[in-house]
Amino acid sequence: MRIIKLKSKRLRRIRLELRMMLLFAWRQENIRIRKEMNTIIEHGDPYYRRYLRESGFSEEDLEYGDLSHGERLQKIARLYKEQMKLDDLLFHSVCACRWCGDFEADLIYNPIMKAWYCESCYLKRQEKHPNLFPALQ
Ligand SMILES: [Zn+2]
Repeated sequence: MRIIKLKSKRLRRIRLELRMMLLFAWRQENIRIRKEMNTIIEHGDPYYRRYLRESGFSEEDLEYGDLSHGERLQKIARLYKEQMKLDDLLFHSVCACRWCGDFEADLIYNPIMKAWYCESCYLKRQEKHPNLFPALQ
């Protein structure tokens, strides 16, 4: 195990911008999933539907208005899995330290944990769990 440190300020900036772009894309996708989940829940809520009727809106305009309770749950479960997969991709990506979330640091890949850590977090974990965090060379 070893750490590769970028000394060039220019390369560090480019790496930071690439990481920020990936984090932004992850965040946008996360927001989309959460919004869809909220819409499914909201549009299936009888109190919300009643509120719409009493406010003069039509229930027919509800995006998920015609889904049964079971169908709504299935859609939410599918979105939840999608979100978990997305989180998993981020947690194992080289965008940020798996432990502290630092996205500017030089990172060390741990093949046992299949994740990237900043030097500080890696060394702290190594002290406590030397069998899971091989020594740096
Ligand atoms: Zn860290």
